[in-house]
Formats: sequence, C-alpha cells, structure tokens
Amino acid sequence: MLEIQNRKYTNEITAANAGERVSVAGWVHEKRDLGGVFFLIVRDISGFAQITLPKKKVDKALFDHVKRVPRESVVVVEGEVKGEKKAPNGYEIIPRQMEVLSESSQVLPLDTTGKVGAELDTRLDARFMDLRTERTKHIFIVRSLMLKAMRDFFDERGLIEINTPKIVSAATEGGTALFPISYFEREAFLNQSPQLYKQILMASGFDRVYEIAPIFRAEEHDTTKHLNEATSVDVELAFVSDKEVMTLLEELIAFVYSRVVGYPGLAKLNVTLEVPAIPFRRITYDEAIELLSGEGEQIEWGEDIGTSAERTLGTIIGELYFITDWPCAIKPFYAQPADVDGKSGDICNAFDLMHPRLELSSGSQRVHSYELLKRQIETKGLSADSFEFYLDAFRYGMPPHAGWGLGVERLLMSMLEIENIRDVVLFPRDRRRLAP
Ligand code: ATP
Ligand code: MG
Repeated sequence: MLEIQNRKYTNEITAANAGERVSVAGWVHEKRDLGGVFFLIVRDISGFAQITLPKKKVDKALFDHVKRVPRESVVVVEGEVKGEKKAPNGYEIIPRQMEVLSESSQVLPLDTTGKVGAELDTRLDARFMDLRTERTKHIFIVRSLMLKAMRDFFDERGLIEINTPKIVSAATEGGTALFPISYFEREAFLNQSPQLYKQILMASGFDRVYEIAPIFRAEEHDTTKHLNEATSVDVELAFVSDKEVMTLLEELIAFVYSRVVGYPGLAKLNVTLEVPAIPFRRITYDEAIELLSGEGEQIEWGEDIGTSAERTLGTIIGELYFITDWPCAIKPFYAQPADVDGKSGDICNAFDLMHPRLELSSGSQRVHSYELLKRQIETKGLSADSFEFYLDAFRYGMPPHAGWGLGVERLLMSMLEIENIRDVVLFPRDRRRLAP
C-alpha cells in the first residue's frame, strides 16, 4: 500500500498550501472528462478536493488509472497543491500517485451527489451510502452538536449524568407499549422510559440528574413521528416543582438552538434557524380545548389531544408552547394532582412541550407521598406488587421532585424541518424495519 504522507482533510488545504506535497484520502465522488483535462473529485467527511490531470502533463499510466477508477471507490491521492479559484476550497491537486484502496462495485444503490433523489426506504436500505450525501451527513453532525450542547448545558447546571437499566421487570406506565424479552427463566421487558429509576434516585440524594438513552416502545402504528427505538433526554430534579423544570426545559431548548444556529451545514439542509424567545407561551389544557372548539374540533374534557388536534393548535399558536394543567385521567400515575382550593382534584401538575408540528416533551411534578402513589397505581388498574422496588424508595425519605422526558429525534426533526422521524436516526427501528 502507498504510504500515506502528509495526509490532510480536504478542508484543511487552501491555496496558501500551493507548492506543497499532500495526500488526500476518500471516495471518488465524481469524474469529469473534458478531453484535454480530466477531473476527479475526491470526497471525505470534511468536503471535496479537485484532482486535476492535464492529459499532456501527467504520466499516461496514471492518467488511465484515474480514468478507470469506478465512482465511490476509496482512493488515496498524492500530489502537489495549486491555487484554483474555480475548484472547491480554492485549490486543486496535480497528482503524482493514486492508489485504489477499495474498489466500488457498480451500479450504485444511490446517487451520492444528491442530483438524483431517492425514496426514504431506498436510502435507509443503503444507509452507509446515504450518509455519503451532504444532506444526510449534516443531519447527523447537527445531531451530535445537539447532544454535546445538552451535555454542556446540564454540566454547567450541576446535573449528574446517570445510566439506568434498559432491561426491566415492570412497565413504567403499565400497558401495551412494551417489548417482552426472555430473561433466563423469567419474562422481562425493554424499558419504555427511565421514569421509575430516575425517581428512585431522588431518594438517594442525587438530586439533579439526567440521562440520554434509548427508550423502547412497541407502537404498532406507522406514523412519521414514532419509532420503536427512540432516544430520550430525561431530567429529574428534587426540591423543585413542575414550574422550575419547565424553565429548565425551555432554557435547554433555547441553548441547543443557539449552538446549532451558526452551523454552516444548515445551508445544505435548506433551513434557517432562529433561536426561540423564552419563556415559551403557556396555555392550560382547558384553554387548548377551547381554542380547538373555536376551530370546530371538539374534545371532551378528559380526552387526550390527538395528532390532528395537535396540528390545529400548532397552526393557531405558531411557535413553541406548553400545555399545562392536564386532567389526571390522561396522565401517568406518578403525576402530582394539583391543589385546588386546598383539595386535590382532577387536574395534575403536568405539562407537555409542543412544537407547532408535534409533541416534544412531557413532564410533571411527581407524587412523592408513598400512600398517594400506591393509591394512584391501583386506581390506574396496575398492581402495586409489581412496583414494590419503586414504591420502596418512597418509604424512607423522598423529597418532592419533578422532571421531564424529551425526544431527541422529535427535537431534531422539528428544528431541521424534516418530515419523517426515520430520517434523523442512523438505523431506525420501526414495525417493518429491523435491518440494517
Ligand atoms: P406521543 O403522544 O406523541 O406518542 P407520548 O406522550 O406517548 O408521545 P411520552 O411518554 O410523553 O410520549 O414520552 C416523552 C417524549 O419522548 C415524547 O414527548 C416524545 O418526544 C418522545 N417519544 C415518546 N415515544 C416516542 C416514540 N415512539 N418515538 C419517538 N419519540 C418518542
Ligand atoms: Mg407525552
């Protein structure tokens, strides 16, 4: 193999390097034959380099070699840098040597130049190649920026990052959305949320925690906003109320936007971002159903706000907003009922964070009284016995606490105006898709 000397990323080279000997390594993006001169465009993660072969000036064997290399093969090219205004990054390389490290088969499953579009399913089937396109590449760089921003934000505010088990014995919210697995002689499940564990930690003295991890939901329906394996950002804080964790959530969102806003790759995604102003608007559940009723969409008090109603509200409000004061009946057992006139009634200290297009996050003040929690588990028709490991943590000193769960993919797709959630996951899992 050619010894790769002075290897540079294509974006590390400029016209200022003229006269230098460099190597670039990457994929053969395009080949252009203009008769007297042949251009090879080499692509790496950072961008493109133009390799220029004037027929008369380069060695004939090298010229033929370059001409024959199939598109998308992996090559390393060594040569001399020359300034060239019309080439990417203002330079070209006059090659001295090229080695094909791995020859690509033809015909390609996808066009990597972005000139020929492809269906999402085709792209997902050949995801490794789809990631070679500029648009898809930038989605995942933004995803990484987003996660880094979140960790920096939490770190600055003194939250501790935790990892809770993904193989669990009980449902978080009971019900149907679970994947059963066989765990030696017993039945177990893939966790649908770290809810129970992050709450248990509130009894431990770890009073500000976050986790960024997969959640598994056996959603059977085929929508553009549900995955069977999603990534959730979960936060739980003790000695605070739902109001404080709502503030933390909106500050996080604004911070993530502010970190992504200047990313140059956004141009390739055709989005111009603006950092949303905080605080976000807050409307109560009652106000939400009234607004909907004004649009002819009737929701009985106590019914959930479905996808079509979410869209209608989003159109009316047109920006990020919270829906607060939900009926307890449609929120999980761990949501704290609100005190109304000194009595706790039918409304919970629970909230959803909404993007005009879809729900981003759900959270609440949590029940921290053992008796009330046990009662609420039973009222929801669940067996307190299967929650013993969780309930136990409430018997020996549990502070008041509150938190939320935020979908990473939902935030990313809404920021980047991407229609289908599958587009923002490297290897999405849905009812039909288990590979790649
Ligand atoms: P929805 O009603 O939109 O299906 P949910 O209320 O069932 O969501 P929660 O249990 O509140 O979801 O989970 C917290 C957050 O996790 C959601 O707001 C969403 O951002 C994300 N999330 C939940 N389920 C999924 C999923 N199947 N695919 C992608 N993200 C999800
Ligand atoms: Mg929710």
